[in-house]
Amino acid sequence: MSTDPLAQEFWKACAAGELRYQRCDACKQPQFYPRPFCAKCGSPKLNWATSKGQGSVYAVTTVERAPTEDFRALQPYAIALIDLDEGFRMMAHAEIGIKIGDRVQATFFAHGERQLPRFAPNA
Ligand SMILES: [Zn+2]
Repeated sequence: MSTDPLAQEFWKACAAGELRYQRCDACKQPQFYPRPFCAKCGSPKLNWATSKGQGSVYAVTTVERAPTEDFRALQPYAIALIDLDEGFRMMAHAEIGIKIGDRVQATFFAHGERQLPRFAPNA
C-alpha cells in the first residue's frame, strides 16, 4: 500500500465507490494522478472533486501476461486510458472488448486490500 497521502486519498475514495480527482483553485484545471501542485500553473492550491465516472476510451490494450503475481489471476485483462467527462485522463482496468471511442462508466472491483476502478460499457 502506498504511503503517499495524495494516493491514499484517492484509494480511500475508491473504497467508497467514488472516483476522485484534483482541480486547481487558481486555473480550474482538472488533473489526475494526484500531485502536490497543479501541473498546468504550478499552484499548490488544489481541491478534490468527485467524478461521475463517465468518459470515453482513448486507448486500450489487453494484458496477456500480468506484470506481477497478484494480477496473474485476472489475466487476460484490459487496461485503458479513459478521457473522463470532467476533463482529465486516467489509466485503469477495463472490460475486455471495449474499443477506442466507446462510452464507458467506472465500476470498482476488490483486489487485495483495495477497490480498483474498472471501466465498463455505458449501458
Ligand atoms: Zn492551475
